[in-house]
Amino acid sequence: MNRQITLAARPVGFPQESDFALVESPIPEPGPGQVLVRAHWLSLDPYMRGRMSEARSYAKPTQLGEVMTGQVVGEVVASEDGRFGAGELVVGQLGWQEYALARGGALRKIDPALAPAQAYLHVLGTTGLTAYFGLFDVGRPKPGDTVVVSGAAGAVGQVVGQLARIAGCRTIGLAGGPEKVADLTELYGYDVGIDYKADDVNAALKESCPRGVDVYFDNVGGALSETIFRRLALGARVAVCGQISQYNLTEPELAPRNLGFLIVFRARLEGFLVSDYAHRFEEGLTRLGGLLAAGRLTYRDDVTEGLEHAPQAFIGMLRGENRGKTLIRLI
Ligand code: NDP
Repeated sequence: MNRQITLAARPVGFPQESDFALVESPIPEPGPGQVLVRAHWLSLDPYMRGRMSEARSYAKPTQLGEVMTGQVVGEVVASEDGRFGAGELVVGQLGWQEYALARGGALRKIDPALAPAQAYLHVLGTTGLTAYFGLFDVGRPKPGDTVVVSGAAGAVGQVVGQLARIAGCRTIGLAGGPEKVADLTELYGYDVGIDYKADDVNAALKESCPRGVDVYFDNVGGALSETIFRRLALGARVAVCGQISQYNLTEPELAPRNLGFLIVFRARLEGFLVSDYAHRFEEGLTRLGGLLAAGRLTYRDDVTEGLEHAPQAFIGMLRGENRGKTLIRLI
């Protein structure tokens, strides 16, 4: 039998385990052009919270009773597409389930010799590419710039900090709690780590960024970002990647309350979606793969075992309980 996690109810505020259902169905068989994949790893990401809601967004919501969306690395077990053979490892948007059917064109082969399979859901996958394009195309750092990253110990943030440092920038990361803040400097090479839950962020930024913030990579939004906006440098670029502090609020915060900072600092605030760079993914993956192979990029995974624990791990990630990229190991 195939085990799947479906959307049982639309959450109000933070999702609860009762918003998900674990269901069983027969393992499907591939039709012409289809590939049957057995999932090894499932990626859990903040965007899934948006799909659980009916609010207008850049993608269609998951319907009630539908399998939760999600990226998976898995093994081909049967194929009716000549390009794929049993035993090959692939990545694709296969959902929260143990077995999935996909069109061959929707799958990409991965090379487990270059990195462990789960890295293709992380540093060699969507979160690595988000860091790469958001930082370089939207943030446009120059050597010597000061780059500030919120959500800095998370899947995207840990890669942003390392790429910015490699580009010759001074890097300041913000994360919640002493363990993650230690990771910022000890593991990811940030010059300064700030605990936004315990420290006076404005004072810490004033001290660590005396010439202001040239690039702010925003993963969280809300009041924390508003504090950071006050410390921008002239000509600053803000890459708006995510607004996770807002995803589970029933009433959004009204920050930033004053866009005057854009005038004062002649700053540019720009949102982006990693999928808009699909035509350049090869470029990003080649660069990230090269850095990884050269030992210049590190990463931390936060692994939970078993599909049945995915809802709990997902809710925990939204609450900041993950230390690194949130992943489910299925076998
Ligand atoms: P993370 O691995 O960073 O996990 C989420 C983290 O968000 C938590 O660990 C927690 O870290 C932090 N967080 C949760 N609530 C708050 C809050 N109220 N204030 C500040 N921080 C909070 O997730 P990802 O790296 O996968 O995603 C990071 C961001 O990037 C998200 O906003 C996501 O939506 C966005 N994203 C955007 C993409 C795009 O194309 N634009 C693509 C991929 C991701 P802590 O303990 O430090 O608070």
